[in-house]
Amino acid sequence: MPFSSFGLSSALLRAVADKAYSRPTPIQLAALPPALVGRDLLASAQTGSGKTVAFALPVLQRLAQNASTQPRSLRALILVPTRELAAQVGEEIRALGAHLASPMKVSIVFGGVSINPQMMRLRGGTDIMVATPGRLIDLIAHNALTLSSVTTLVLDEADRLFDLGFAEELSRILALLPVQRQNLFFSATFPPAVQTLAQTLLRDPVRITVASEPESAPDIVQRVIEVDVGRRTQLLLHLIKLNHWSRVLVFVATKHAAEMVADKLRKRRINAEPFHGNLSQGKRTQVLADFKASRLKVVIATDVAARGLDIAQLPVVVNYDLPRSALDYTHRIGRTGRAGERGIALSFVSADSDAHLRLIEKNHGLSLPREQVEGFELTPGVAPGLPESPANGGIKGRRPSKKDKLRAAAAAQTRR
Ligand code: AMP
Repeated sequence: MPFSSFGLSSALLRAVADKAYSRPTPIQLAALPPALVGRDLLASAQTGSGKTVAFALPVLQRLAQNASTQPRSLRALILVPTRELAAQVGEEIRALGAHLASPMKVSIVFGGVSINPQMMRLRGGTDIMVATPGRLIDLIAHNALTLSSVTTLVLDEADRLFDLGFAEELSRILALLPVQRQNLFFSATFPPAVQTLAQTLLRDPVRITVASEPESAPDIVQRVIEVDVGRRTQLLLHLIKLNHWSRVLVFVATKHAAEMVADKLRKRRINAEPFHGNLSQGKRTQVLADFKASRLKVVIATDVAARGLDIAQLPVVVNYDLPRSALDYTHRIGRTGRAGERGIALSFVSADSDAHLRLIEKNHGLSLPREQVEGFELTPGVAPGLPESPANGGIKGRRPSKKDKLRAAAAAQTRR
């Protein structure tokens, strides 16, 4: 079924053609018809499935059909969990709306940067806003906008909005929205908080689940390489050179590790930069732009900073440190193999992080074979050396948390 069969305006079809999207992805096929007629949606969709286009096209089409008000008033509000996702979603909407006869103003707002320029840009009003919840509330508090004319609310990556602690901000925002509106709700997972919100928020929603269909499942080869903790950077270097990887996203557990590994790679003349929450927004934007433009070969990122990154043709993701949770594992490996492209997700595992990986595998119903790379084999029977960063990537701070104790107990059981 081509994009032209949904009754989209010629301006939107032109933009879809500009983007070279030849046919809709499964989430787009399922979401476009009901969203275009104003129904609420409850969509289970993974990052990389094409969900942004699935809500952006109906939002643009419906807004364009209903003549714009003068001055502009905010009619579509899209809430996202991170700054990077805000920028990506906003840019996608701008591109898709590029040929509309009366152009839409799309505002992108997020925290971590000065609020004043954002307030200035909102002076003439806006039609569409892509926002992180905290900054949106700040802007409302500064009287920079109101939500009283919103007709469509999109929650993108709702599970991560909760993961990142935005529950309170969300309920404050929801209380300010008009009751009559369309709600488009996208989430990769449905923990209880998300389910409760969906129940209270949505009216007779069309439920969509496409993640498990083979067509939409990202084509990701998952591999596990055993390596001693202290040799991971050397192995990474070796693999980058051996495989001639052009672009690699490497996940580490801490900001410190991100700095340190990037530093070591640079010393070996590999163009690498860290990417974590302590960097200024300007620096993060620069790193991302350099990475996208292939001026940068390796980005060493922490989970929070890397959430929602969308980089086309990212062939390899490396878990230098294992993620804390099975959900984070999904989010991390979802950075590669986007929209039908092939990707490799490599996880480094050492003697003492293997049990943690087993828990992640169990959670996903996986059993990944352990590989070793010649020259980097695990040292048998040797207690792990001083780690460059925590070997399991999952233990915050010095004192073990409840989860850490559970993991340790599971590890002890596996060893028995
Ligand atoms: P998303 O799930 O929205 O993060 O989208 C993931 C990637 O898929 C983005 O890079 C989009 O540009 C791309 N994409 C979205 N729709 C299509 C389509 N119909 N065909 C090919 N690529 C697409």
